[in-house]
Amino acid sequence: MAVSSNSDILYLKGVGPSRAKVLAAELGIRSVHDLLMYYPFRYIDRSARLSIADLSPDTGYAVLTGTLQNLQSVPTGPHRERLTVELSDGTGTVRLVWFAGTRWIRPKLKPNVSFVVMGKPSLFNGHWEMSHPEIELASSAAADVPQSPFLPVYNTTDRMKQNGLSSRALARLTASLVAQVEPEPENLPQSVIDRFQLIPHHQALVAIHYPQSEQQLDQARFRLKFEELFFLQLDCQYARFRRQLHSQGHVFSHVGSFFNRFYREKLPFPLTGAQKRVVREVWSDLRSGHQMNRLLQGDVGSGKTLVALLCMLLAVDNGCQACLMAPTEILATQHYHSFLSLLDGIGLNVQLLVGGLKPSEKKRVKQLLADGRVDILIGTHALIEDDVAFRSLGLVVIDEQHRFGVEQRARLWRKASPPPHVLVMTATPIPRTLAMSLYGDLDCSVIDELPPGRQPVRTLHCTEPDRPRLFHFLKRQIIQGRQVYFVFPLIHESPKVNLRHLEAGLEMIQSYFPRPQFQTSMVHGALSPADKASEMERFKQGKTHIMVATTVIEVGVDVPNATVMVIENADRFGLSQLHQLRGRVGRGGGQSWCILMTDGQLSSSSQQRIQTMCSTSDGFRIAEADLQLRGPGDVQGLQQSGVLDLRIASIVDDEPLLHDICLLVRQILSADPSLQSSPLLAQHILQSKHRLLWSNIS
Ligand code: ADP
Ligand code: MG
Repeated sequence: MAVSSNSDILYLKGVGPSRAKVLAAELGIRSVHDLLMYYPFRYIDRSARLSIADLSPDTGYAVLTGTLQNLQSVPTGPHRERLTVELSDGTGTVRLVWFAGTRWIRPKLKPNVSFVVMGKPSLFNGHWEMSHPEIELASSAAADVPQSPFLPVYNTTDRMKQNGLSSRALARLTASLVAQVEPEPENLPQSVIDRFQLIPHHQALVAIHYPQSEQQLDQARFRLKFEELFFLQLDCQYARFRRQLHSQGHVFSHVGSFFNRFYREKLPFPLTGAQKRVVREVWSDLRSGHQMNRLLQGDVGSGKTLVALLCMLLAVDNGCQACLMAPTEILATQHYHSFLSLLDGIGLNVQLLVGGLKPSEKKRVKQLLADGRVDILIGTHALIEDDVAFRSLGLVVIDEQHRFGVEQRARLWRKASPPPHVLVMTATPIPRTLAMSLYGDLDCSVIDELPPGRQPVRTLHCTEPDRPRLFHFLKRQIIQGRQVYFVFPLIHESPKVNLRHLEAGLEMIQSYFPRPQFQTSMVHGALSPADKASEMERFKQGKTHIMVATTVIEVGVDVPNATVMVIENADRFGLSQLHQLRGRVGRGGGQSWCILMTDGQLSSSSQQRIQTMCSTSDGFRIAEADLQLRGPGDVQGLQQSGVLDLRIASIVDDEPLLHDICLLVRQILSADPSLQSSPLLAQHILQSKHRLLWSNIS
């Protein structure tokens, strides 16, 4: 009997209520369509299997065939056991281990018959092990879905496995599904299908699970990647087209006295060429009549704050309020103090709103704000609370945008009508391909020039044996009047454990840098905002020489006198984090250093990260390398974007395709902005509200 693709997954044979519940909870699979869209992450080529002797530490996922012996069970608690059995194939042995669900596994493990075993091998005390592998009789593995030379392998979770939903069980479901399901309708216009020689949508969906040949698998992959990237682009670009056509924005018509006076009398240093260019770009948006949505990318230390301030003065000159939202209280407070001193004597009311303020103080600021007596408001997430009401919000600047979620930004956007102009600033450069898929054609400005006199930070990789020399070097820096940072990673989830780790580090540092000659500040997430602020302040004023911290100081912190950044366990940080941390030094004149400490053997990806850091200080190159090494899902701050939950396309590997699609979509929309002649595409737009939201506010 045929099953419609819209049907509830419950109606598929082999899925009862309890499995349906697990599929929904673990993978969000509710309908037959959802299951069809759950693509295998790899295939087992039935003809190519590994021998145990061929395993290496880089083997990600292995399919082995062999016989079992030496079944052992060690009790690990009431009703719990650790079950092990050895698999041998004549070239070696692998120990298979189960900790859970052993009740169901144990009866399967028979001697003297051939088994197929699939899983991730790992080396444990010189011996290969696989924990919780999938295992089945070789005879039955060969028996089902004989029509395809490939066996699909699906990602599963522990909870799925415990409920009998292993990759093999999913394969049985998809096998019966592709046999029964009514074909899904085509979702791309015929002209696009012809132009790119795509196979039909439904054929691709079937073939991605059970390809008849390598060639068909390639065609299916291409088709599904294509449609994934196509609809991503369509969402982004459609939103942008609409915004350009319809959005109304405050018109800031003149440059007034606040901007002019500040520029003539208060500017602490001449702007760099890039800073001037960006201010001009923003200015032209602000008077265009359309609402501005601009992304400002500028490497750490490139002087984004000053640009933000100038733009905010333009808003104030035109009778509006402006606000700046920063991701941490430390950063917001720092911006507040630097704005106060920069704007001294200009006659503007600048206020700070952060969670750590006393309730009465918060209330006072909110009242001033609502009365229109605050010109510039600086703060953290506290700004987006519902009870924060502006009188006339005209410009929102979001600093270090990668730290904020989509929803948070949307809330700021809704605080005024017409919506305020938005400038988002980031020092985590987004590689071009990523920017293209995230923002469609979002207006983008780049500060590609550092203020004059900056020397590049020298980056060195050190290990434990270098520590005495390093400490000696730090001592000399401090004696010369400089300051240094030590940053420790978050080793464990628990804040308590992190703290202990940090305190151990502090003790080690203080034993070498004894008080009273050397003074130390410490900042971490568990401190109260007030304590954080005062520790930061002591360091900033030069009262302490050493700042020991977790990554709370990662973004934005500006202490130009600090010249050395020591990053402990540097291999535990991602590239963009390392780059951000390094950006805390090299802010004044003079030479600065970044020391990457590691201990013990490094994995090859850690080695690559460290090498990249030592060889370049260009944020864009680092962002590209990060994308290459980790894939877009891990690029900092982009996880929650939703846009990167790609099922099959890869923003790294499919860049040329993405580029073609970007152009294609632009052509389609330029010719027909409301998609009147493409009902399929118009229908898609109707169904994808959430993406539109993202583009609107970025
Ligand atoms: P980021 O882009 O990382 O936010 P900041 O705005 O914190 O950088 O600026 C980094 C440092 O450079 C600050 O100490 C700032 O005062 C200084 N700075 C900014 N613009 C200039 C300039 N045009 N010339 C010299 N120094 C500048
Ligand atoms: Mg900054």
